[in-house]
Amino acid sequence: MAELTQQATVLSITDLTPHVRQLVALPKIQRALFQPGQWVSLQLPVGAKPPLNRAYSMAEPPSPAGQLTLVFDRIHDGIGSSYLYGLKNGDELLLSGPYGNFALPLPLDRDLLFISRYTGLVPIHCIVKQLAASRHAATVHLDCDRSD
Ligand SMILES: Cc1cc2nc3c(=O)[nH]c(=O)nc-3n(C[C@H](O)[C@H](O)[C@H](O)COP(=O)(O)OP(=O)(O)OC[C@H]3O[C@@H](n4cnc5c(N)ncnc54)[C@H](O)[C@@H]3O)c2cc1C
Repeated sequence: MAELTQQATVLSITDLTPHVRQLVALPKIQRALFQPGQWVSLQLPVGAKPPLNRAYSMAEPPSPAGQLTLVFDRIHDGIGSSYLYGLKNGDELLLSGPYGNFALPLPLDRDLLFISRYTGLVPIHCIVKQLAASRHAATVHLDCDRSD
């Protein structure tokens, strides 16, 4: 079945660092149902041949209100991320999804090791929050490589 493409309204924007921003949006038709680790495709009205499709992972597990929390970098000369940085509360985004198979193995019968850096941490943050909320007994190791 094709994933629904729908508008979402920007509810809040928060700067997490000088170059990383969090955006919370509420889909208009169907509230966001997804597995932690999945991503949505934003269809942005910019670029040489709009829409410009850009993928962003969910940073927070599904909420009862059905909001989507995305976290993104400000990329130098990045077309999509520059557009996202210009959004304000009340603006609308076109998105589809969720997509992706990066999800916890079920049943979860082993410890977990994640290796990530920069905004590659976004889907892992979502997965770890979900695990913490479900009080799962698995041990989670997170290696954030800071070398360049
Ligand atoms: C599954 C998935 C999940 C993702 N999740 C996240 C997430 O949660 N958060 C996040 O921040 N990002 C995420 N990304 C990355 C995101 O989709 C975008 O790729 C990122 O935001 C950059 O897009 P942009 O349009 O701003 O940059 P672009 O315009 O695509 O450019 C990126 C960089 O490449 C340079 N560049 C572009 N074209 C050329 C060229 N022809 N020659 C030389 N240099 C060039 C630009 O100058 C810029 O510095 C994810 C990607 C995938 C595939």
